[in-house]
Amino acid sequence: MAEKKEHKIITSEAAKTAKNNGVAAQQIAQSTVGLRVGSVVLWIVALVAEFFAIKAILAPEDDPFISGMAPLTAGIIFLVVDLIAVIAGSLLWKKANHIHPASEKNALTFWLWNNLGVIMTAIAFIPFVILLLTNKNADQKTKTVGTIVAVVAMLIAGVSSYDFNPYSAEEQQEILNMENATSTVYWTEGGTVFHIYSECQHLNNSEELHQTTIDEAEQAGKERLCKTCLKRHEKEAAEAPAQISEEGQSALEEATETAETVKEEVTEAVEE
Ligand SMILES: [Zn+2]
Repeated sequence: MAEKKEHKIITSEAAKTAKNNGVAAQQIAQSTVGLRVGSVVLWIVALVAEFFAIKAILAPEDDPFISGMAPLTAGIIFLVVDLIAVIAGSLLWKKANHIHPASEKNALTFWLWNNLGVIMTAIAFIPFVILLLTNKNADQKTKTVGTIVAVVAMLIAGVSSYDFNPYSAEEQQEILNMENATSTVYWTEGGTVFHIYSECQHLNNSEELHQTTIDEAEQAGKERLCKTCLKRHEKEAAEAPAQISEEGQSALEEATETAETVKEEVTEAVEE
């Protein structure tokens, strides 16, 4: 066995930026439980505030919170709390959806998941408006002002809660695949293949290694991935699941699938 040489690695510009990739992969590993719990808690706060807004305007006599305050003023203060809580909840929910998106395969679930903030906005204001307008004791001024404030708040919250760029699990997978494809590989001037691992045994005798994207390696005439590197990569992918979370595992399974596709392509290319 030849003595292993110290490699001098020449990294291409594209490979330098490719090394900073992995944003989607990082996101997938991040848990969104905290964000989802946070949004549900804030939505509950919004509903409690709505309840107090209704109580302040429609049954002010037995409300200890608003002693000395005009019922309409108290109602508006509670509506503002309602507004802030519902928007904050929706923003957390949207953030969680962009980290762990729903699948587009089930259109109804996908729609509900992405529009839950808007649905919560409706629940946080519409009952107030209906109860106010159908109440016989409230005077005309209270009805008009209360309704206008609630509808404006609902519009503001609705626009803030709506996801104008809903993100799907499928889109996220595409980005992951792209990141996979732009990860860096190693090759030598004289070689015909590219390698995943710089310490691959076939590179032991090479002093100078180029580190580039797969695209650049192909442009440099390196036709396929080294078989030793592919075997090692598959072995590592197969061993890894025991130590990682469920979320990581599904990401890994998808990555392994991609590796299978690459393998098939490589095999086809060799046979041609
Ligand atoms: Zn190799």
